[in-house]
Amino acid sequence: SLLHQARFFTTVNHLRDLPATAVPEVAFAGRSNAGKSTAINILCNQKRLAFSSKTPGRTQHINFFEVGTAKRDHTYGYLVDLPGYGYAEVPGAAKAHWERLLGDYIATRAQLAGLVIMMDARRPFTDLDCQMVEWFLPTGKPIHVLLTKADKLSSNESAQALREARRILDAYRQQAPDGAPLTVQLFSSLKRKGIEPAQQVLAGWLGL
Ligand code: GDP
Repeated sequence: SLLHQARFFTTVNHLRDLPATAVPEVAFAGRSNAGKSTAINILCNQKRLAFSSKTPGRTQHINFFEVGTAKRDHTYGYLVDLPGYGYAEVPGAAKAHWERLLGDYIATRAQLAGLVIMMDARRPFTDLDCQMVEWFLPTGKPIHVLLTKADKLSSNESAQALREARRILDAYRQQAPDGAPLTVQLFSSLKRKGIEPAQQVLAGWLGL
Protein backbone atom coordinates (compact mmCIF):
# COMPACT_ATOMS: atom_id res chain seq x y z
CA SER A 1 0.00 0.00 0.00
CA LEU A 2 1.22 3.50 -0.84
CA LEU A 3 0.14 4.48 2.67
CA HIS A 4 3.17 2.54 3.92
CA GLN A 5 5.37 5.26 2.44
CA ALA A 6 3.66 8.07 4.34
CA ARG A 7 6.14 10.47 5.95
CA PHE A 8 5.97 13.49 8.22
CA PHE A 9 5.37 16.71 6.29
CA THR A 10 4.49 19.59 8.62
CA THR A 11 2.82 20.70 11.85
CA VAL A 12 0.27 23.50 11.86
CA ASN A 13 -0.90 25.50 14.87
CA HIS A 14 -2.96 28.14 13.11
CA LEU A 15 -5.28 28.06 10.14
CA ARG A 16 -3.20 30.70 8.39
CA ASP A 17 -0.32 28.20 8.34
CA LEU A 18 -2.20 25.46 6.49
CA PRO A 19 -0.06 24.37 3.54
CA ALA A 20 -1.17 25.54 0.10
CA THR A 21 -1.16 22.06 -1.35
CA ALA A 22 -2.97 20.98 -4.49
CA VAL A 23 -3.71 17.31 -3.83
CA PRO A 24 -6.46 15.64 -1.78
CA GLU A 25 -6.14 15.04 1.93
CA VAL A 26 -7.97 12.84 4.42
CA ALA A 27 -8.27 13.88 8.04
CA PHE A 28 -8.41 11.79 11.22
CA ALA A 29 -10.42 13.04 14.15
CA GLY A 30 -11.24 11.49 17.49
CA ARG A 31 -11.52 11.88 21.22
CA SER A 32 -8.21 11.75 22.95
CA ASN A 33 -7.42 8.14 23.83
CA ALA A 34 -9.75 6.72 21.15
CA GLY A 35 -6.75 4.96 19.62
CA LYS A 36 -6.22 7.42 16.78
CA SER A 37 -2.42 7.53 16.71
CA THR A 38 -2.15 3.76 17.06
CA ALA A 39 -4.60 3.31 14.19
CA ILE A 40 -2.78 5.79 11.91
CA ASN A 41 0.51 4.00 12.58
CA ILE A 42 -1.06 0.60 11.84
CA LEU A 43 -2.75 1.84 8.65
CA CYS A 44 0.63 3.17 7.48
CA ASN A 45 2.50 0.11 8.75
CA GLN A 46 4.87 2.31 10.77
CA LYS A 47 5.90 2.36 14.40
CA ARG A 48 5.75 6.04 15.21
CA LEU A 49 4.47 8.22 12.42
CA ALA A 50 1.68 9.63 14.58
CA PHE A 51 2.41 10.36 18.22
CA SER A 52 -0.16 10.10 20.96
CA SER A 53 0.03 13.18 23.13
CA LYS A 54 -1.08 12.83 26.69
CA THR A 55 -0.72 16.53 27.44
CA PRO A 56 -3.83 18.61 26.69
CA GLY A 57 -1.82 21.78 25.99
CA ARG A 58 0.20 19.99 23.36
CA THR A 59 -2.71 18.61 21.40
CA GLN A 60 -3.75 21.82 19.68
CA HIS A 61 -1.89 21.19 16.49
CA ILE A 62 -2.54 19.51 13.16
CA ASN A 63 0.06 17.11 11.74
CA PHE A 64 0.36 16.50 8.02
CA PHE A 65 1.81 13.28 6.60
CA GLU A 66 2.65 13.10 2.93
CA VAL A 67 1.71 10.10 0.80
CA GLY A 68 4.00 9.95 -2.20
CA THR A 69 6.38 7.86 -4.23
CA ALA A 70 9.43 6.36 -2.56
CA LYS A 71 11.61 8.51 -4.79
CA ARG A 72 9.80 11.62 -3.51
CA ASP A 73 9.11 12.85 -7.02
CA HIS A 74 5.34 12.74 -6.70
CA THR A 75 2.82 13.47 -3.92
CA TYR A 76 -0.54 11.73 -4.13
CA GLY A 77 -2.09 13.32 -1.07
CA TYR A 78 -1.86 13.97 2.66
CA LEU A 79 -3.03 12.29 5.83
CA VAL A 80 -4.00 14.90 8.38
CA ASP A 81 -3.90 14.05 12.08
CA LEU A 82 -6.24 16.44 13.88
CA PRO A 83 -5.90 17.30 17.58
CA GLY A 84 -7.61 14.84 19.89
CA TYR A 85 -10.58 16.30 21.72
CA GLY A 86 -12.55 15.63 24.86
CA TYR A 87 -10.04 16.19 27.63
CA ALA A 88 -11.99 16.88 30.80
CA GLU A 89 -9.81 19.76 31.93
CA VAL A 90 -9.02 21.85 28.89
CA PRO A 91 -9.06 25.54 29.82
CA GLY A 92 -11.65 27.73 28.09
CA ALA A 93 -9.13 29.52 25.87
CA ALA A 94 -7.60 26.29 24.65
CA LYS A 95 -11.05 24.88 23.98
CA ALA A 96 -12.00 27.96 21.97
CA HIS A 97 -8.76 27.65 19.99
CA TRP A 98 -9.51 23.96 19.38
CA GLU A 99 -13.01 24.72 18.18
CA ARG A 100 -11.82 27.31 15.71
CA LEU A 101 -8.93 25.30 14.38
CA LEU A 102 -10.89 22.08 13.98
CA GLY A 103 -14.24 23.56 13.01
CA ASP A 104 -12.79 25.89 10.38
CA TYR A 105 -10.44 23.28 8.97
CA ILE A 106 -13.19 20.66 8.66
CA ALA A 107 -15.85 22.96 7.30
CA THR A 108 -13.76 24.98 4.84
CA ARG A 109 -10.70 23.04 3.71
CA ALA A 110 -11.23 22.55 -0.04
CA GLN A 111 -8.54 19.85 -0.34
CA LEU A 112 -10.23 17.71 2.31
CA ALA A 113 -11.67 14.68 0.50
CA GLY A 114 -13.08 12.82 3.47
CA LEU A 115 -13.08 12.61 7.26
CA VAL A 116 -12.27 9.55 9.37
CA ILE A 117 -13.67 9.77 12.89
CA MET A 118 -12.25 7.30 15.40
CA MET A 119 -14.62 6.38 18.19
CA ASP A 120 -14.07 3.90 20.98
CA ALA A 121 -16.47 1.05 20.09
CA ARG A 122 -17.61 0.94 23.73
CA ARG A 123 -18.75 4.58 23.77
CA PRO A 124 -19.17 6.05 20.28
CA PHE A 125 -20.96 9.26 19.29
CA THR A 126 -20.11 11.38 22.31
CA ASP A 127 -21.21 15.02 22.09
CA LEU A 128 -17.90 16.10 20.55
CA ASP A 129 -17.95 13.24 18.02
CA CYS A 130 -21.39 14.45 16.97
CA GLN A 131 -20.06 18.01 16.79
CA MET A 132 -17.45 16.82 14.29
CA VAL A 133 -20.10 15.09 12.18
CA GLU A 134 -22.29 18.18 12.26
CA TRP A 135 -19.45 20.52 11.23
CA PHE A 136 -18.60 18.28 8.29
CA LEU A 137 -22.04 17.15 7.08
CA PRO A 138 -22.88 20.36 5.16
CA THR A 139 -19.81 19.87 2.92
CA GLY A 140 -21.46 16.79 1.42
CA LYS A 141 -18.14 14.94 1.63
CA PRO A 142 -17.85 11.37 2.96
CA ILE A 143 -17.35 10.37 6.60
CA HIS A 144 -15.96 6.98 7.62
CA VAL A 145 -16.27 6.01 11.29
CA LEU A 146 -13.83 3.53 12.80
CA LEU A 147 -15.20 1.85 15.91
CA THR A 148 -11.84 1.35 17.60
CA LYS A 149 -10.65 -1.14 20.23
CA ALA A 150 -13.29 -3.57 18.97
CA ASP A 151 -11.24 -6.30 20.68
CA LYS A 152 -12.73 -5.05 23.95
CA LEU A 153 -16.18 -6.22 22.84
CA SER A 154 -17.58 -9.72 22.36
CA SER A 155 -18.71 -10.56 18.85
CA ASN A 156 -22.34 -10.00 19.88
CA GLU A 157 -21.50 -6.64 21.40
CA SER A 158 -19.52 -5.67 18.29
CA ALA A 159 -22.41 -6.52 16.01
CA GLN A 160 -24.73 -4.51 18.24
CA ALA A 161 -22.33 -1.52 18.28
CA LEU A 162 -22.11 -1.64 14.49
CA ARG A 163 -25.90 -1.76 14.07
CA GLU A 164 -26.38 1.14 16.47
CA ALA A 165 -23.72 3.23 14.71
CA ARG A 166 -25.38 2.55 11.34
CA ARG A 167 -28.70 3.67 12.80
CA ILE A 168 -27.19 6.97 13.98
CA LEU A 169 -25.45 7.56 10.64
CA ASP A 170 -28.70 6.80 8.79
CA ALA A 171 -30.37 9.55 10.81
CA TYR A 172 -27.53 11.96 9.92
CA ARG A 173 -27.85 10.99 6.27
CA GLN A 174 -31.32 12.53 6.23
CA GLN A 175 -29.69 15.89 7.05
CA ALA A 176 -26.80 15.57 4.60
CA PRO A 177 -26.71 16.86 1.05
CA ASP A 178 -27.59 14.12 -1.44
CA GLY A 179 -25.18 11.29 -1.78
CA ALA A 180 -22.74 12.00 1.06
CA PRO A 181 -21.55 8.53 2.05
CA LEU A 182 -21.52 7.96 5.81
CA THR A 183 -19.93 4.60 6.54
CA VAL A 184 -18.76 2.71 9.61
CA GLN A 185 -16.67 -0.36 10.41
CA LEU A 186 -15.19 -2.18 13.38
CA PHE A 187 -11.46 -1.73 13.93
CA SER A 188 -8.84 -3.15 16.25
CA SER A 189 -5.19 -2.17 16.12
CA LEU A 190 -4.44 -4.75 18.81
CA LYS A 191 -5.99 -7.65 16.88
CA ARG A 192 -5.24 -6.10 13.48
CA LYS A 193 -8.90 -6.21 12.45
CA GLY A 194 -10.41 -3.96 9.82
CA ILE A 195 -7.13 -2.63 8.48
CA GLU A 196 -7.68 -3.46 4.81
CA PRO A 197 -11.19 -2.05 4.50
CA ALA A 198 -10.01 1.18 6.16
CA GLN A 199 -7.00 1.40 3.83
CA GLN A 200 -9.33 0.93 0.87
CA VAL A 201 -11.49 3.85 1.98
CA LEU A 202 -8.41 6.08 2.31
CA ALA A 203 -7.02 4.95 -1.04
CA GLY A 204 -10.34 5.70 -2.69
CA TRP A 205 -10.52 9.19 -1.23
CA LEU A 206 -6.91 9.98 -2.17
CA GLY A 207 -7.28 8.47 -5.62
CA LEU A 208 -4.40 6.05 -4.99
P1 GDP B 1 -5.10 8.61 20.78
O1 GDP B 1 -5.04 9.50 21.98
O2 GDP B 1 -6.46 8.61 20.15
O3 GDP B 1 -4.03 8.86 19.77
O4 GDP B 1 -4.96 7.11 21.32
P2 GDP B 1 -3.68 6.14 21.32
O5 GDP B 1 -3.46 5.58 19.96
O6 GDP B 1 -2.55 6.78 22.01
O7 GDP B 1 -4.25 4.94 22.21
C1 GDP B 1 -4.76 5.19 23.52
C2 GDP B 1 -4.65 3.92 24.35
O8 GDP B 1 -5.48 2.90 23.78
C3 GDP B 1 -3.25 3.34 24.40
O9 GDP B 1 -3.03 2.84 25.69
C4 GDP B 1 -3.29 2.23 23.38
O10 GDP B 1 -2.39 1.19 23.68
C5 GDP B 1 -4.71 1.73 23.49
N1 GDP B 1 -5.20 1.17 22.21
C6 GDP B 1 -5.05 1.71 20.97
N2 GDP B 1 -5.60 0.91 20.03
C7 GDP B 1 -6.11 -0.16 20.69
C8 GDP B 1 -6.81 -1.35 20.25
O11 GDP B 1 -7.08 -1.62 19.09
N3 GDP B 1 -7.21 -2.22 21.26
C9 GDP B 1 -6.94 -1.99 22.56
N4 GDP B 1 -7.40 -2.88 23.43
N5 GDP B 1 -6.27 -0.90 22.99
C10 GDP B 1 -5.86 0.00 22.08
